[in-house]
Amino acid sequence: MSSHRIPVMIPHLGAEEAQAAADAVRSGWVAQGPRVARFEQEFAAFVGAGHGVAVSSCTAALHLALVVLEVGPGDEVIVPSFSFIATANAVRYVGATPVFADVDLATGNLTVATVDDARTARTRAVIAVHQAGVPFDVAALRQAADRWRIPLVEDAACAAGSTANGRPVGSGATISAWSFHPRKLLTTGEGGMVTTDDPQWAARLRRLREHGMNVSAADRHASTTPVLESYLETAFNYRMTDVQAAIGLVQLGRLPELVRHRRALAARYHDLLAPIGGLEPVRDPAHGETNFQSYWVRIDREYGVGRDDVLAELAAAGVSARRGIMAAHLEPAYADVVSGPLPVTERLTRDSLILPLHHALTEDDQDHVVAVLRKLAG
Ligand SMILES: *Cc1c(COP(=O)(O)O)cnc(C)c1O
Repeated sequence: MSSHRIPVMIPHLGAEEAQAAADAVRSGWVAQGPRVARFEQEFAAFVGAGHGVAVSSCTAALHLALVVLEVGPGDEVIVPSFSFIATANAVRYVGATPVFADVDLATGNLTVATVDDARTARTRAVIAVHQAGVPFDVAALRQAADRWRIPLVEDAACAAGSTANGRPVGSGATISAWSFHPRKLLTTGEGGMVTTDDPQWAARLRRLREHGMNVSAADRHASTTPVLESYLETAFNYRMTDVQAAIGLVQLGRLPELVRHRRALAARYHDLLAPIGGLEPVRDPAHGETNFQSYWVRIDREYGVGRDDVLAELAAAGVSARRGIMAAHLEPAYADVVSGPLPVTERLTRDSLILPLHHALTEDDQDHVVAVLRKLAG
C-alpha cells in the first residue's frame, strides 16, 4: 500500500528546463524574441503544420483563430459543451453565439452526426476538441466541414503528441490551437500556439498577438537601421516570453518519450481494470492514438457506486483523482444558451473521473489505485 498521496498529474520539469530558463534570463532578452521564433518553428514541424504563432495561452489562440476567420456578431459557432470552458468562451470573445453539440460516448468528442444536428443557416465555424488528448475523427470531420463550407478549428489544447490517421494531430488542419498550461503534457507555465498552413493567416496572427504592429518588437530591435512600426488594426497583447519558449523547447524534446511512457502506464491500467465490471477506461479510437493526457474512466451502473462516492473513497485512500471533463452548458455562465438535448455530455460529465497518470507514477501507485476501485466494486 502506498502511504504517500498520489497526485492526479504533475508536470515533468527538471534541471534542463531550469537551465534553459536561466540562460534566457542571462541573455537579457526575456520578452518575445529568438527563442519564441525557434519554439514556433520546432513545434510547427513536430505537429506537421506550416506555421506556428506562439501566444500567451490556448484561450488566446482560440480567440485569434476566430478573429482570423472573421467570425463575429450574428454568427453561430458549434462547440462541444463537454470541454474546458475556454472553448465556449472564445466564441463569445468575438461576439458570436456558441451552439453546443453532443459528443460520442467512447471518445468524448464531436462527430459528424452531432455537428450536423447542431448546424443552422447561421453556423460560421466549428471548434472540435481533441478532448483529453483523444483525437476526434479528423478525416471524417474535415471532409464534412468542407462539404458544409464551414471552417474547422481544432482545439488541440491537450493533444500534442496524439495522432490521427497515422499523422500527428495538427497536420493538415485548417487552424489549430494548443495549450502549454501545466495540466497539459508539454508546459511553459502558461502559454499557447496557433498552427496553420496558411502563410497569410500566420502573418495576421503575428500582428494580432502584438498590438497590430506591422513589425515585431524583436525584429525592430534586431534591425541595424531604424524601423518605424505602424499599427494596422486594433489587436491584443497575447505574446509568449522567451523564458517560456526556452522551457518549451526542452519540453518539446521530451515529449515523444513522455507520451511513450504514459501509453505504457495506460496499457497497464487497462489490464488491471479489465476484470472490474462497470468501469470503462478511455482507449485509442480506431482512427488514432491518444497521448493519454488524462486517463478518464466512465463508471457505469453495473459498478454499483456513484462517481462522487468513488472520488471520496479514493481521496480517503490518498489518491487524488478528479471529476471528469466539465460541461459548459451546466455552468451559470452559459445558463442562457439554448441547445438541443445533450444526453451523452450529461452522462459523461456526471459519471466519469480522471485517475492519476503522470511520468512519476509507479506500478505500486497504480496497484493501490486499482485496489481501492476493486474493493469498492465489492
Ligand atoms: C486547457 C484547455 C484550454 C485552455 O488552455 P489555456 O492554455 O489554459 O488557455 C482550452 N481547451 C481545452 C480543451 C483545454 O483542455
